[in-house]
Amino acid sequence: MNLQLKDQVVLLTGGSSGIGLATAQQFAREGARLFICARGEGRLREAAGSIAAETGTEVGFHACDVTRPAEIDGLRDAVMARFGRVDVLVNNAGTGIYKPFLEVTDDELVNGMALNFFAQFRVTQRIAPVMIRQGAGAIVNVAGCSGLQVLDPPFFSTCTGPAKAAEIRFTKALAAELGQHGIRVNCVAPNFVEVPERTQAWVAQMSPPGTSPEETKKQWAQRVALPGKRWCTLDEAAATIVFAASPAAGYTTGEVFVVDGGFARD
Ligand code: NDP
Repeated sequence: MNLQLKDQVVLLTGGSSGIGLATAQQFAREGARLFICARGEGRLREAAGSIAAETGTEVGFHACDVTRPAEIDGLRDAVMARFGRVDVLVNNAGTGIYKPFLEVTDDELVNGMALNFFAQFRVTQRIAPVMIRQGAGAIVNVAGCSGLQVLDPPFFSTCTGPAKAAEIRFTKALAAELGQHGIRVNCVAPNFVEVPERTQAWVAQMSPPGTSPEETKKQWAQRVALPGKRWCTLDEAAATIVFAASPAAGYTTGEVFVVDGGFARD
């Protein structure tokens, strides 16, 4: 399928690792021009360099913290200085805290909202005027299944679930408002995605005493409907984000693309 992304300018937050990096790589393979951000400049530079070397595409980057409004202004200015337009915005940077309600700290609560919902809102508020001037654009917000359904232990979701639910509601409200300008706004909600550098440590934190991280992961995957009973891969999550952002999905807006292997039953 031709996703019609050649030469489109894609701004993607959290592009230096995990789902964001895998998504940036897939956009670049489709011929899109990329601009990625994250806080850590070293990993960001490395990611931009390796994507450019692999695909020959143009990749700009800018180190910034998307929870800080002044730094988001700097991000907008940097992408405009480099490319002069933004065709696709992917709000990917985010986080997940899956611990019991009574153990969630106030910092985790506030930072979770700031990096998930507030950052998506604020980045979009700075980029939407660019798209309105262009008369076209596509926005994809990366949410998560905990925004759609309650997770059972060991993945307690009182902290991250409401933040992801806010992203989903934001997506739908924004799609209704920006549609008149030719701007599509969609959301991708993955289930647990295997991120090689950190999944093991992350699951270890949630495993009850006496249960190995491998066992916890397996128990969780039992709920997946598809054969293999496995977690989602980075490439599977990334492919859905790229499709939702592409002109090939041009008649979809306000939609939630659920990538969960049939985990959710209703
Ligand atoms: P990772 O932690 O692997 O990567 C996060 C990326 O965002 C990194 O590039 C990181 O770089 C950057 N980032 C983190 N904080 C900030 C910040 N304040 N400002 C700018 N950039 C930041 O995350 P995942 O790939 O796992 O998750 C990506 C998205 O997918 C998130 O929205 C997450 O909630 C969602 N998701 C993930 C699932 C999973 O199982 N992995 C499941 C469902 C949804 P740096 O640290 O240098 O800033």
